[in-house]
Amino acid sequence: MGVTVNRSWEPGYSGMATFCKVPLALAPEDLRDADVAIVGVPLDGRVTNRPGARFGPRAIRQACPGSSPTRPHLGIGVDPLVDLRVVDYGDIEPTPSGWDRDVEIVRARVSDVLTAGAVPIVLGGDHSLALATQSAVAAHLGERGYHIVQFDTHTDTGPAVNGKLTHGTPMRLLVEGGVIDGDQIVQLGLRGYWPDTTVFDWMRSVGMRWHLMDEIEERGIDAVVSDVIAEIASRDVPAYLSVDVDVLDPAFAPGTGTPEPGGLTTRELLRAIRRIAAAVPVIGMEVVEVAPPYDHAEITALAAHRCVLEALSAIAGRRREAASLNPATP
Ligand code: MN
Ligand code: MN
Repeated sequence: MGVTVNRSWEPGYSGMATFCKVPLALAPEDLRDADVAIVGVPLDGRVTNRPGARFGPRAIRQACPGSSPTRPHLGIGVDPLVDLRVVDYGDIEPTPSGWDRDVEIVRARVSDVLTAGAVPIVLGGDHSLALATQSAVAAHLGERGYHIVQFDTHTDTGPAVNGKLTHGTPMRLLVEGGVIDGDQIVQLGLRGYWPDTTVFDWMRSVGMRWHLMDEIEERGIDAVVSDVIAEIASRDVPAYLSVDVDVLDPAFAPGTGTPEPGGLTTRELLRAIRRIAAAVPVIGMEVVEVAPPYDHAEITALAAHRCVLEALSAIAGRRREAASLNPATP
């Protein structure tokens, strides 16, 4: 299952940087027996503001301080890198001027991971990659087979400009293209000055739901996340976590292309991810819009990296619980 790329005693700042130094897998057959596969998507050609997210996957991978692939979670009491078989499926290879081809490659890589029975965790890259990731997941799980929980400042449902995909349009293109239904998406953390009411009217008309930052501030993040969990549980489908790091306040995530003041704290986001992934099955995850050129002291890359570790830890905890309820589970 993949190739070991480091000596075990190498510290995090040295050696080859797969995600937390997990084995590198470059071919679909290397995914055999994997529980989780990291997929890097170093693309930022579709941003509407500051570019730089193409450097996100590398920065997130390097934000792991450990010297060996072990990361015991103090709160949950599991070690996601021991309890789960995690591999790094490398980055997709960007094609200059080949944006449509890039979408196909992302879709194919995520499909490889799903076909192997593993959970894809995608490191962006700008959020336009959601068109590819969700196309792969929807094809794998069938009609209405899952629910997207999107943490974001932005709805990403803007009308396509000249019919083109940008990082502000993927959710609209997915719904309009019949890949998913609008009521398969719930968004948390929306704020700021975009989009206008006509876009929200459209979102309402297709059944999308959202929780503005105002609501989160008034009711508290725990109450809102509890509602989201109850909604997914009532549908009895797995969740896909689409985490745009700009949902965090710029104080906690300066390194992103379209920052918006007034957002979540890192602590709130990590807890929300952990709670959802502990409560319902997670079919996949993406963490997008980390743009290292605007980062300071790796604040944003560290936050994005820990989002992944929180989800992995909750997934490991959930599986351990299931195994203890059913001793026959291998
Ligand atoms: Mn987004
Ligand atoms: Mn955003």
